[in-house]
Amino acid sequence: MTQADDVREVIVIGSGPAGYTAALYTARAELKPLVFGGAIFVGGALTTTTEVENFPGFPEGIDGPDLMANMRAQAEKFGAEMIDDDIVEADLTGDIKSVTDTAGTLHHAKTVIVATGSGYRKLGLPREDELSGRGVSWCATCDGFFFRDRDIVVVGGGDTAMEEATFLTRFARSVTVVHRRSTLRASQVMQNRAFADDKISFAFDTEIAEIKESNGTLAGLVLRDVVTGATRDLDATGLFIAIGHDPRTELFKGRLDLDDNGYIKVASPSTRTNIPGVFAAGDVVDHTYRQAITAAASGCAAALDVERHLAALV
Ligand code: FAD
Repeated sequence: MTQADDVREVIVIGSGPAGYTAALYTARAELKPLVFGGAIFVGGALTTTTEVENFPGFPEGIDGPDLMANMRAQAEKFGAEMIDDDIVEADLTGDIKSVTDTAGTLHHAKTVIVATGSGYRKLGLPREDELSGRGVSWCATCDGFFFRDRDIVVVGGGDTAMEEATFLTRFARSVTVVHRRSTLRASQVMQNRAFADDKISFAFDTEIAEIKESNGTLAGLVLRDVVTGATRDLDATGLFIAIGHDPRTELFKGRLDLDDNGYIKVASPSTRTNIPGVFAAGDVVDHTYRQAITAAASGCAAALDVERHLAALV
């Protein structure tokens, strides 16, 4: 095992809006952050989408990968050091924290900001990823606006699915909720709201069997009745998948306090975790808002918390 020679002021784990914003602020505070951006997911969730229209400052919208490249360049301009690798081990106890990269090298720092995000659950169907941002979405708040007068399917039976379906009726011509079971899991009030909406219909005991594509966009769906196995075509050009999301906290289980769903607990409104010197920001903490701007905002808060923590050490 090799060891980095120096003890850094701060290590940031994650290169989404939370990680890059934390890197920008700590770099401008001359803390020379070392940022681990992941081995394959550099730039985070927004690199998997096309147009982002709700990040302030871009009135014409901006491509997700371009937005993330800009954030990275801005942090690098002030001295953030980027390593596009995964952290596979973390020892966060003690005054000096250690994290290990995939080559087995140990890196040390007085503080760590965890910004590893969360992943939307997928259906696991062919073309699902390829059509992300081209008819397939996991976020109605992000993409609903692009689906004006379209026929949309929402997959899921929980509160999120009902919320997404109800929200999407503002734009869509029709919304079909596809759910594998015969009853919904959503709270009664959310169910009632969805049932009362003329634009929403329900396909129970049903799953998506196939995603169809034409000219690089979603061109329809094949539904399967899970009881009879019968399939049918559905003319839809929007598919919103609302079957949940999982925080990337495997590495921190048994180390950081997590909530029942595996999200890192912080002493809100600060970003402090249960371990002094360890802070968490972005979607790995937040299962409510899950937007680039809220992730960036908490990355900023984590950087300011780190500054204060370090200042108190001297
Ligand atoms: P993420 O962006 O998920 O970044 C997490 C980072 O952690 C990644 O860089 C990953 O590589 C890294 N990482 C994870 N584990 C490790 C590890 N062990 N070691 C090192 N690095 C690690 N929001 C909007 O506001 N507007 C939109 O239009 C919009 N569209 C979206 C479209 C899609 C398809 C998706 C999936 C999301 C969209 N969102 C949108 C939501 C937004 O992308 C997220 O809320 C935001 O990216 C969360 O930022 P984050 O920094 O917390 O995490």
